[in-house]
Amino acid sequence: RTPMNAIIGFTRALLKSELSAQQMEFLNAIKISGDTLIVLINDILDLAKVDAGKMKFEQLAFNLKNAQGSIFKLFETKIGDKNLELINEYDTTIPETLVGDEVRLNQILMNLISNAVKFTDKGKITLSIRKLKEENNLVRVEFAVKDTGIGIPQGDLEKIFENFQQASSDTSRLYGGTGLGLAIVKQLVEQQGGTVSVKSKVNKGSVFSFILPFEKSARSAVPDQSRAEQRLDNPEIKILVVEDMALNRLLMKTILDDFGFEKDMAENGKVALELLSTNNYDLILMDLQMPEMNGFETTEFIRNVLKSNIPIIALTADVTTVDVAKCKAAGMNDYITKPVDEKILYNKIAEMLSVPLVARGAVALPEIYPEDGVINLEYIKERTKSDPKKMIELISVYLDHTPPVILALGQRLREKDWQSLASAVHKIVPSIPIMGMGDKYVEMAKKVQEYAGAKQNLDQIPGLVLQLEHVFDRAGKELEEELRKLKMMV
Ligand code: ADP
Repeated sequence: RTPMNAIIGFTRALLKSELSAQQMEFLNAIKISGDTLIVLINDILDLAKVDAGKMKFEQLAFNLKNAQGSIFKLFETKIGDKNLELINEYDTTIPETLVGDEVRLNQILMNLISNAVKFTDKGKITLSIRKLKEENNLVRVEFAVKDTGIGIPQGDLEKIFENFQQASSDTSRLYGGTGLGLAIVKQLVEQQGGTVSVKSKVNKGSVFSFILPFEKSARSAVPDQSRAEQRLDNPEIKILVVEDMALNRLLMKTILDDFGFEKDMAENGKVALELLSTNNYDLILMDLQMPEMNGFETTEFIRNVLKSNIPIIALTADVTTVDVAKCKAAGMNDYITKPVDEKILYNKIAEMLSVPLVARGAVALPEIYPEDGVINLEYIKERTKSDPKKMIELISVYLDHTPPVILALGQRLREKDWQSLASAVHKIVPSIPIMGMGDKYVEMAKKVQEYAGAKQNLDQIPGLVLQLEHVFDRAGKELEEELRKLKMMV
């Protein structure tokens, strides 16, 4: 899905640029093929998931009447183009709030309605939703999509629910499609304890219906409608995108440019923390799997060490329940799946930032990272009487030995090998004053040594180690620069 999303995303971006008529035509062809292919990929992935029993169904409160309204909106243009009439029959005795999987329900209805529209040239399409039974806490609802289209021969009614099956061999040529939609509908309905049925007459029309059980809910659901129409009225929104893949970064940049937001890009958590120390952001979009420092570690650092409550939305490639739980545990506010849907992203950002600014957590972060100039060579100069050769030797020894120890800190930390962590830190403490790196770093290192040695305050160690890694990293760069200058002198 990810590469396909990049193809579609960049095609969309290109389509907005200055193009010749022919280029426009070619790009449109790429766009249409891409859109078709992503639907097919999604269908196949869905089918594979249900087949493997891995499809999870949410049990959340939702408002059925609103859900139906938003589905109709999606088909308005198509139905208008074909001059069809759309009829909506809704049984008002259905309890206002039901508990179930609204997203999957939409998926089922969209499949059926889009078939109805596709196979009908004149007449009307009716969506009727009615209550069959209400018992204790349970409501059985029947959904029916009726059309006045080409209909299906009696003998084919069974096979159309099978994978890759269409009623006749020329369906694909005449109407397109892959024959997966109804197979998915059947699986989605049956796995939720429902049933699907179809009645049809050739040249008269078809009725596809399904029955699903829902629990009633006492709480009323947040209406989705209002969320979808939310607009951001603050144009100066600044977003930090943390994502290791250059392609995804570029795509995200294009999307955020479109929204008119300011943005900075970081290729991993470490770079993100560095940016956070000198900039204010309104929100962070955080990839999960990244080298150096992943999304979970970075979020934990932001929440626990920086004590910032800046909104963080996770960017996940696949929503497994494990990942979602991990995101929550790490302190992320929400997640969005890749390939990122622009509308969903916009709505999530809007939803999070429409709260008053103070609560938004656009806090100035404490200055934990030094600006340039970590090292001070006074001490070395004094010892060596500023002899460049001796200085080169000292700095070289430092550069040969310290970075590997620093590298090991992170490793020991991940392994929770506290004893080795304490002794590694012990080794680097003396070099701090030699390179003139400032007493506060000695204190930090000593704290790590003390906490790790005594296995106390373990929650403070990751933050301290990260700061040490950072300061040594910067010191290393500065020393290399000094070394280069000194070498030119001898
Ligand atoms: P697709 O629409 O991609 O071909 P589906 O699984 O959704 O795949 O449908 C399978 C087949 O069932 C279609 O190819 C078509 O022959 C038939 N079909 C589905 N819905 C309708 C309808 N409303 N009217 C007529 N034929 C239909």
